[in-house]
Amino acid sequence: MSPDRPNLLGMTPPELRETLTAHVRQRGQPGYRARQIEEWLFRGDARSFGDMTNLPLPERDVLGDSFRLDEPAVDTVSESSDGTVKHLWALQGGEVVESVLIPTRHRLTLCISSQAGCALKCRFCATGWSGFGRQLSPAEIAGQYRASARWAAEHDRGPVTNVVFMGMGEPLANRKAVFPALTILNAGYGIGARRITVSTVGVIPGIAALAERPEQFRLALSLHAPVTELRAELIPLEKRYPLDQLIKALEAFNRKGGRRITFEYTMIREVNDDPALIAPLAELAHRVQAFVNLIPFNPIPYVEWKPSHPSRVREFRDRLEVAGVPAAVREPRGRDIDAACGQLRARRHGIHR
Ligand code: SF4
Repeated sequence: MSPDRPNLLGMTPPELRETLTAHVRQRGQPGYRARQIEEWLFRGDARSFGDMTNLPLPERDVLGDSFRLDEPAVDTVSESSDGTVKHLWALQGGEVVESVLIPTRHRLTLCISSQAGCALKCRFCATGWSGFGRQLSPAEIAGQYRASARWAAEHDRGPVTNVVFMGMGEPLANRKAVFPALTILNAGYGIGARRITVSTVGVIPGIAALAERPEQFRLALSLHAPVTELRAELIPLEKRYPLDQLIKALEAFNRKGGRRITFEYTMIREVNDDPALIAPLAELAHRVQAFVNLIPFNPIPYVEWKPSHPSRVREFRDRLEVAGVPAAVREPRGRDIDAACGQLRARRHGIHR
């Protein structure tokens, strides 16, 4: 058995087809075997090559000697009283990452991680406080979907309908793995591009690269402040990619057509909820035709901040709508299971303040 067997779960459909076609040819097997294996991976939910019951037994053994089918291993599953389910996944090398299943009336959204930890240190984010571990591979990213979708099916939660890259890490700082993972989710597992949202705090080259992709993936910008000075206090990356350049990158993304942009705005009491910020927020949203999600801050152990008062959150929403900007209030989910992203990992690493 080769010690560095490739993990088939990290291959895009074209890579997989090429690899498997070469393999079955070399084995003297009919060409349709490659398609059968691909079906087991993307549709059939095989956990191992031994599960691929329409392949001859010796071929299953040889596949196991040649390749891996490794998903992230479940470390902990926590279920919230509101139906949110958080998985903590154990990765090779000792890192752990989180994904969250979030049921709403007509959807089951999976929030996945793209990095173990994060280097960008946004002040409102538990992951940022816990520091950077390492980049995830395409298999570790797409594997969170595969394993979560199975868990959801086995626990009568229905199919995963949407995927958002809003878990741990900045996805556009790991494009090498996230871009193939997007292809695997879309072309492999069949999740429509418009049901996949990449969330960024503003990595401009990544936004430009995403705009070049032909699929209409959605983009969410963690805005959190509509003016430069305040944004720089919350998001250190603002100094590298300033707001005016960021909005220009979003305008270019928007010009590609058919790709909705969302602004995420975490509302922190007396930090970024001054009504004077509504007008500049509305102006930015108009420029890129963004939908604004207003999210009351989910307290984390590292800062004293509190969520904005509900009346202030409603005031933002109402005044944005009067200004012609579509907006919604999103309640943080799973508070009782530390679902503010990064909290479980921080606990595991013993990071407390
Ligand atoms: S909000 Fe995102 S980019 Fe910022 S520290 Fe947290 S994980 Fe990193």
